[in-house]
Amino acid sequence: MQISDILDILEAVAPPQLQESYDNAGLIVGDPAAAATGVVFCLDSTEAVVEEAVRKGCNLVVAHHPIVFRGLKRFNGATYVERTVMQAIRREVAVYAIHTNIDNVHQQGVNARIAQKLGLTDTRILAPKPGLTEIGAGLLGRLPAPAGEMDFLRHLKSTLRTGCVRHTALREKPVQTVAVCGGSGSFLLPEALRAGADMFVTADFKYHEFFDAEGRLVIADVGHYESEQFTVELLYELVREKFPNFALHLTEVNTNPVYYF
Ligand SMILES: [Zn+2]
Repeated sequence: MQISDILDILEAVAPPQLQESYDNAGLIVGDPAAAATGVVFCLDSTEAVVEEAVRKGCNLVVAHHPIVFRGLKRFNGATYVERTVMQAIRREVAVYAIHTNIDNVHQQGVNARIAQKLGLTDTRILAPKPGLTEIGAGLLGRLPAPAGEMDFLRHLKSTLRTGCVRHTALREKPVQTVAVCGGSGSFLLPEALRAGADMFVTADFKYHEFFDAEGRLVIADVGHYESEQFTVELLYELVREKFPNFALHLTEVNTNPVYYF
């Protein structure tokens, strides 16, 4: 089996052309025709994850976030990005990223997995691409029954195993319609408001952006890593379904750069 055979499975679900223009999803390091020895799945393909792959006898790292976003001009190991790329080339580990292309699909995408974990049903894309209902950013779903705001925040905190949920003022209203966007989702606030969401679950909201809720919904910022953590098992399951006996591993490295004190 070649590395490209594994990538084909992922790209059948989230074709690379669905990625946003600023993105760099795809095979970043490595030869697609090389024989695959095993895969490590992760959110961030850091040096520690490449090392883990080597240790486990795997020559492919499948990550959600692209390790290289902008052009690299030097390779002298001054930054973690340069070091990771150099190490991957040196150790012959291919590094692949499946990013906004899997954010943008409905079924089997990043947000469908979050919605499933939170128990949301009747999901639809929050901001569909023009003319497409199944492709776009964010997801809108419903809880089977209305929940109290504090109960839902507690549910978020435990389900997403986050040290902190930063949220706007509660509205003393039950929560039933919920918008979700894994990762940096503040750009979707207008769509979440327009869709009548009671709560918007995402990450990376800035101070001034919290004001924009204006009491019309509750913004719940659960942390970027925490919101996307289940993407790793999603990718793992997609490949396992087709190659159940191949060496596939969820990373054991916690790559979250944010700690809570
Ligand atoms: Zn992300």
